[in-house]
Amino acid sequence: MITISKRKFKQYFESKMYSLYAQPINEASNEQHLNVLASVLKDLIAKKWVDTKIDTEKEVYYFSIEFLLGRQLKSNLLNLGVENSIREGLKELGINLDDLIQSEVDPALGNGGLGRLAACFLDSMASVGMSGHGYGIRYKYGLFKQKFVNGCQVEVPDNWLTQGNYLWEVVRPNKAILVKFEGDVYLEEHDGNLKVIHKNYIPVMAMPYDIPIIGYRNNSVNTLRLWKSEIPRRDFGQTTANAKNYSGSYEEALNYKYYTEEISQVLYPNDSNYAGRLLRLKQEYFFVSAGIQDIYRKYKKHKLNIHELHKKVAIHINDTHPALCVPELMRILLDIEGLSWDEAWNITINTISYTNHTIMAEAMEKWPVEMMKKLLPRIYMIVEEINKRYLSYLNSKYSDQNKIRRMSIINNGNINMANLCIASSYSVNGVAKLHTTLLEKEVLKDFYDDTPYKFNNKTNGIAHRRWLMSANPELSGLITNLIGEEWKTDTFKLKELENYKNDNHVLDRLDEIKYNNKVLLSNYIMDKYDIDVDPNSIFDVQVKRLHAYKRQLLNLINIMTLYHKILDNPDMDIEPRTFIFGAKAAPGYYLAKCIIKVINSVADLINNDPRVRGKLKVVFIENYGVSLAELIIPAANVSEQISTTTKEASGTSNMKFMMNGAITMATLDGANVEIHELIGKENMFLFGLTAEEVLNYNKNGGYSSIDLYHTDLGLKQVVDDLINGFIPNLGKEGREVYDSLITYNDEYFVLRDAKDYERAQRELSELYKKKYDWNRMSLINIANSGVFSSDRTIKEYGRDIWFRGCEINEEFNKL
Ligand SMILES: *Cc1c(COP(=O)(O)O)cnc(C)c1O
Repeated sequence: MITISKRKFKQYFESKMYSLYAQPINEASNEQHLNVLASVLKDLIAKKWVDTKIDTEKEVYYFSIEFLLGRQLKSNLLNLGVENSIREGLKELGINLDDLIQSEVDPALGNGGLGRLAACFLDSMASVGMSGHGYGIRYKYGLFKQKFVNGCQVEVPDNWLTQGNYLWEVVRPNKAILVKFEGDVYLEEHDGNLKVIHKNYIPVMAMPYDIPIIGYRNNSVNTLRLWKSEIPRRDFGQTTANAKNYSGSYEEALNYKYYTEEISQVLYPNDSNYAGRLLRLKQEYFFVSAGIQDIYRKYKKHKLNIHELHKKVAIHINDTHPALCVPELMRILLDIEGLSWDEAWNITINTISYTNHTIMAEAMEKWPVEMMKKLLPRIYMIVEEINKRYLSYLNSKYSDQNKIRRMSIINNGNINMANLCIASSYSVNGVAKLHTTLLEKEVLKDFYDDTPYKFNNKTNGIAHRRWLMSANPELSGLITNLIGEEWKTDTFKLKELENYKNDNHVLDRLDEIKYNNKVLLSNYIMDKYDIDVDPNSIFDVQVKRLHAYKRQLLNLINIMTLYHKILDNPDMDIEPRTFIFGAKAAPGYYLAKCIIKVINSVADLINNDPRVRGKLKVVFIENYGVSLAELIIPAANVSEQISTTTKEASGTSNMKFMMNGAITMATLDGANVEIHELIGKENMFLFGLTAEEVLNYNKNGGYSSIDLYHTDLGLKQVVDDLINGFIPNLGKEGREVYDSLITYNDEYFVLRDAKDYERAQRELSELYKKKYDWNRMSLINIANSGVFSSDRTIKEYGRDIWFRGCEINEEFNKL
């Protein structure tokens, strides 16, 4: 732990201001204050931020194509435990810490759940004292900023590196790495041995930018290393002897510069959707190759035995995007280390583990053989060899040719990346119990039957330090007053809150805290959109990426139904509600963008209808991201988790909401199933088709949305509103959404679940009237949310996957 007195801090801050900017504090800008503060903090942790512990303990390397970190200042201060002295010190220097906290950029180097999970895992690895590091890409442009123009989503580039550098990063030019693309590969004989020669390749330099990941009051500082692609610098240490020659024309040189820099230029804005573009494949190999070479270099520096790599290093791949870790590690072991295939394979398969994140077909990565062969000739040769050997194994074991085809890594001219991961790793995990069961019983059944011991579940989690302690300080304070501090490092202790479930004093406080958080959000909404929302109304929130399977449309249909009811019966006694949305759509996802437009048009209609008189408000907050999530989630009464059952692998916002005392409105999908196991149906609202029903419909057909539409007149009215002009300012978008429901038979069972959803929403509304019952439910949710801390998840990864059977890090074997 770090301590610094107020007096010392002030001196430090002042001298840093002079050394960085040569000016007095009172003349510096906000931005400069922030830079100086970050610089002071980096100095404070410098000694603890050691490069590696590989010689003394096993290290984990978490490869992810996205890390959605969120702002770092507040969480770094919290974890270091220096917030108070620094806040006071700054105050005496005339600087408000909260202004600095709010002015920090929010790096959007991820799309949604997958990238945020990676960030929560980094926080937890450091906080439980694990030596675990991240590898990713330093995108110049993160996820686009979302604006609404006339209700439509418009994408604005996220130029987050406005100052050229990120506050918390440290660039390490002496650790740059050469990554090779394209070229010719052949075998040459050297002293009777065959050697792989790679000529005429395009050399790209991977420049590491390190971000410190600070553990919670425990002296751990791990590293997130993000790679930037560059043209190799003149003083670049590694040889490019066989590289393609670019000493030709000026134009050629420019093209080459563009080729290299383009790789880390922009994050692909797709969530759970496979893009299949050449540049994406370049990105994937770029950061994987840099990372694997980096690990190998460290390992060799410590003169460790290569045959024991898996005893010192665990490589984890977050979904299939880093799947090329497999052939890249094989390449190094074969071509550089000179091992035999069997030796290399034995090391690789004992080093790499894999997390599956989805069962949706459109998200499954399949790279065309021709594309990979040209871009990564040596890597493709290795994949082909892995496949050849895997097929011969399968053929020796099975005679069912269909089964073998399904399991083959290469099929129909495509490389199936999930199959590559499963065949080449020692552990395959799903991200919630239901999801893992579906993998084992349905989607990956062939593989599960073949190697059941590889499969395991690791239910996702969230960093409670960010999502409760930092985002909801008032609730955090109440909890500490009631049960002490221990819950901060052991969230299972939250269970003790249940002792207060009949304490009306505590329930009143809970209500008050929620109200205060709602006021903060109301103020934001007023400032930004000039919409007056009543903090006494139910705040009913759905924030997540916009996707048909997440069913924002189901939410909207219920809102429309309510609206009609109010119009039909203006004196109806309903609990006032504010429906809040936040969601970005992938720029190429037309239906999702149409849904945004429809929601915005309906919001306009309802918010400006005097007949509604404050009973209903609809607000779509632009540009949802981590910082907004930190404002919105603590203010929610209701958490909408209404995906088509089987489609949401886990969800993590469901956990964030629960921990902040929102009541979940849910289908039994993803981790909602586990929330239900913990608190029972009496402490949440459930509706909708079961997993089995969805699977049976999908297998046997039997669902006809148009039949339903013709039999349920209330539903018909709302669906017709999409195309009959009832919603002003709505054009072809209404038709598109209508067609998805009627013409294309409602793939995600929106209409099928609509009636049951309405029923559950009605029950929720009734319960809200009983203040103490509602707040008791809220308390029970908080009390049972401890299992969803990512500290628990990470300890399970350690115990069951990364440190399984290791004599080192015994700690995690014992858990
Ligand atoms: C937690 C989080 C998500 C994931 O939300 P789901 O509802 O689980 O899909 C997406 N985006 C941001 C900014 C988040 O913080």
